[in-house]
Amino acid sequence: MTGAQYCQVAIDTPLRQLFDYIIPPACDVHPGMRVRVPFGRREVVGLVVRTASVTDVPVAKLREIVGTLDETPLLGEADLKLLEWAANYYHHPIGQVFATALPKGLRVVRKRAARKNGSAQPVASREPITVREMPYSLSNAQQSALQALVAARGAGNFLLDGVTGSGKTEVYMQAVAAVLERGGAVLVLCPEIGLTPQLLERFQRRFDAPIASLHSGLTDKARAEQWQRAARGEARIVIGTRSAVFAPVPQLGLIIVDEEHDASYKQQDGDLRYSARDMALLRGQLQDVPVVLGSATPSLESLHNAAQGRITHLQLPERAGSAEPPRLALVDMRAHVVHKGLSAPVLHAMRRHLEAGSQVLVFLNRRGYAPTLLCQGCGWVAPCHDCDARLTVHMKTGRLACHHCGAEEALPARCPRCGHAVHPLGQGTERVEETLAAEFPDAPVERFDRDVLRAPQALAGAIERVHSGNARILVGTQMLTKGHHFPDVTLVVVLNADQSLFSTDFRAAERLAQTIVQVAGRAGRAGKPGEVLIQSLYPEHPLLNILLNEGYAGFAAGALAERAAAHWPPFARMAALRASDVTAAGAARFLHQARTLLAPPAGVMLRGPVPAALARRAGRHHAQLLVESAQRPLLQRFLAGWVPQLGGIAAPRSLRWALDVDPLELF
Ligand SMILES: [Zn+2]
Ligand SMILES: [Zn+2]
Repeated sequence: MTGAQYCQVAIDTPLRQLFDYIIPPACDVHPGMRVRVPFGRREVVGLVVRTASVTDVPVAKLREIVGTLDETPLLGEADLKLLEWAANYYHHPIGQVFATALPKGLRVVRKRAARKNGSAQPVASREPITVREMPYSLSNAQQSALQALVAARGAGNFLLDGVTGSGKTEVYMQAVAAVLERGGAVLVLCPEIGLTPQLLERFQRRFDAPIASLHSGLTDKARAEQWQRAARGEARIVIGTRSAVFAPVPQLGLIIVDEEHDASYKQQDGDLRYSARDMALLRGQLQDVPVVLGSATPSLESLHNAAQGRITHLQLPERAGSAEPPRLALVDMRAHVVHKGLSAPVLHAMRRHLEAGSQVLVFLNRRGYAPTLLCQGCGWVAPCHDCDARLTVHMKTGRLACHHCGAEEALPARCPRCGHAVHPLGQGTERVEETLAAEFPDAPVERFDRDVLRAPQALAGAIERVHSGNARILVGTQMLTKGHHFPDVTLVVVLNADQSLFSTDFRAAERLAQTIVQVAGRAGRAGKPGEVLIQSLYPEHPLLNILLNEGYAGFAAGALAERAAAHWPPFARMAALRASDVTAAGAARFLHQARTLLAPPAGVMLRGPVPAALARRAGRHHAQLLVESAQRPLLQRFLAGWVPQLGGIAAPRSLRWALDVDPLELF
């Protein structure tokens, strides 16, 4: 018994508040427990954030909780604090923040099936952890990075900045071993569900320790089970994607955020638009544990934090063993014969590497057969009827598909306007696969993109065919740049780097540089020298040249200087208010009203509203209003006064809006 008579409960509603309830005398309620409560005419599951002996609400208006669903709290004090902090920082209704953190299987309880979470016995870190596999010996740089991590017993932020192949994972592993040995547990975040099995397998091979994995590929039931194993302290290692940052991990001793630059750590749509990387850093502070951000291409934010002394910069500048860094070169597409998107020097180099018995990786960030279907008679281009976009040709399925809204239609045989023949224009991965299969008939091609590898098992199968040598040429999208190791690939070709060179998004250059360096890192490991060819129509472009001559660090230094001069993040703080409606006028009207709700103080600027670059998507018109300040506290104070008023703007039911604090993409 706590003696408290009242509790404040987080309930999944758009209302920006906690709700007070009376604790019945027979009920033992603690913060972090789920409770069933009456809410309007319904009964819902809520989470107790705190208990109290007083309430501000007239007692006559209060209702009693129906019962508890847990015998022991699911969330600890620090977990609750983290979620309250997230609600304040992202200016999001607190009940919805809690709903983001709890797996669906724990939020919905059918009356009949309501069962108590009866673990009760938190598993003590009784248990000795056996190391199954001998750790590898470390280079000097790895050794000093490890020492820094192991020495940091309390809070401390680290950026483990290591080129691909420098052995970041081995540093993680040995840091994890040190935490496990002293009875702690570890939270490991990775960006992609596709990478989870790989990471899971490496940890299983190394440690004889219970591991929980949390990602969106699990069923609701399995996810809830894994989450509860973490919450009960049964798992000593918790590996998961973005939302795992909110999973309770008693005895937490270390947080690792692998590939910290990856955009998928930011929730960019839906309700709570949070950054799992930033939440991890905050969690480390609240729970007094070190946080390691690892990357071969750190985000400019993290590099800036390191330069400011907020993060300790640990560098692994060399590949492990005797592996040489890959040689990068530009291929000027204007100076060479180009056959279906492949230049003569690229085809020549591919032949050379294939004849030497190696594998070749071809990267193109565009799936489908061709991005455009064109009539050469009248110039008609197949449009999406619901978006400001063209339809992509998918030859194998005989369909035209919109990559923005998912709309599909049959591929027409003739132009619907003039009856002339129509032709696919440009290259996607499906077409490059076809071209390469014809060009190199003896070298089986494996394609990596969302069209062929929808299921995680399909990806595992494709990786297996590459490792066994049954596939010789790999063609794929972004999927190929992420963490997979292909030791026999000695040539990497970047087919079209130009798409993002002239983007209006201030982060486009950073993303392009990261993609090129990441994909280049796939070439030449385990002692085989690698070669990287980047095809471009603009080989004189400064971004490409600085990357080639000075590497990612040189690029990042230049890009940070540009951001500082232009007052862009991380030198300024931003929030984007986004609205969409069935008419462009509807979205604009809402944002104009939002703009006039509250005058910004000196030091806070409002920009816009402006229509999104791709304004019409899936039949809805998108626009945004930017809020900027050089100082985070100023921006936060303004948002705290402004955002709660937005709900009062009279708008049609069709209007939707969302606030994105620290937006990653400005569309
Ligand atoms: Zn036509
Ligand atoms: Zn569309």
